[in-house]
Amino acid sequence: MKIVITGGAGFVGSHLAEFLLAQGHQVTCLDNLITGNSKNLENIRGNENFSFIEYDVTNYIDLPDSVDYILHFASPASPADFARFPIQILKAGGVGTLNVLGLAKAKKAKFLLASSSEVYGDALINPQQEDYWGNVNQIGPRGVYDEAKRFAEALTMAYHRQHGIDTRIARIFNTYGPRMRKDDGRVIPNFITQALNDEPLTVFGDGSQTRSFCYVSDLIQAIYRLMLAEVNEPVNLGNPHEITIRELAEKIIETTGGKSAITLKPLPQDDPKTRRPDITRAKSLLGWQPQVALDEGLRITIEWFKNQLN
Ligand code: UDP
Repeated sequence: MKIVITGGAGFVGSHLAEFLLAQGHQVTCLDNLITGNSKNLENIRGNENFSFIEYDVTNYIDLPDSVDYILHFASPASPADFARFPIQILKAGGVGTLNVLGLAKAKKAKFLLASSSEVYGDALINPQQEDYWGNVNQIGPRGVYDEAKRFAEALTMAYHRQHGIDTRIARIFNTYGPRMRKDDGRVIPNFITQALNDEPLTVFGDGSQTRSFCYVSDLIQAIYRLMLAEVNEPVNLGNPHEITIRELAEKIIETTGGKSAITLKPLPQDDPKTRRPDITRAKSLLGWQPQVALDEGLRITIEWFKNQLN
């Protein structure tokens, strides 16, 4: 297949590009590099089936060749980015998604939206199932991302219903692994960088809030299966193993063998108290479930960060 990935120089986008090339597909990545990094593409830059275009998808997109599949991953995605790039995030999810769906329509291509567990907001149920409508503060600091993804989902369903575009919606929960930026601001890169530098780990709030972390190779497998499945409704993709942020901090200190302390910082506004995907739908429709345990994924990720810091 000829596949376009928007946000293809990002953490998930670049892993996806590498995986799809290895499956024998042709891949074109678009990225404006505001949070993506062309270094993420260094393993595949010489591949004759790969091309990269530095481009902002909030502008009209015109590609000369045919396209079979578009994977729309373009957006800053770390809560730290919500304050840095609030308008770009809304534009990427809104205007960007509109342009990319327009491209899918023009090319008669299939379309997959990288949506997010953030559509559930500070969820009032745990675990979250796909039929939960969420609890989002649209005017809070996270609202820019949450509402951008909710609008993107609404647009995707509108193109599916009105124009018959064959669409997929992946609701991606916390994912981690090599190629996360060390200054990304998300909890795993923060804690690993702090632990490797023997600095205190900054736990926000009292650390009792929970998350469930999926290793990136498991996520890539899930996305590929979703691409190939005939499923138009949203599917949660994530690892249901839930831990508190304090436990995560302790685990990372232990795994790095460091001697960092833990320091408590104020909890950011609207920080979700619990998050765990119900993956019944992914299991039954895609025959998928995560394979990489947190301990193993953290070991690989810590090794990668060590090499970056050296
Ligand atoms: N967090 C933390 N210390 C940090 C960064 C994040 O305690 O240095 C907490 C954050 O408040 C949240 C959780 O870790 O409860 C996950 O945050 P992250 O930014 O990774 O993503 P989120 O799941 O909130 O989108």
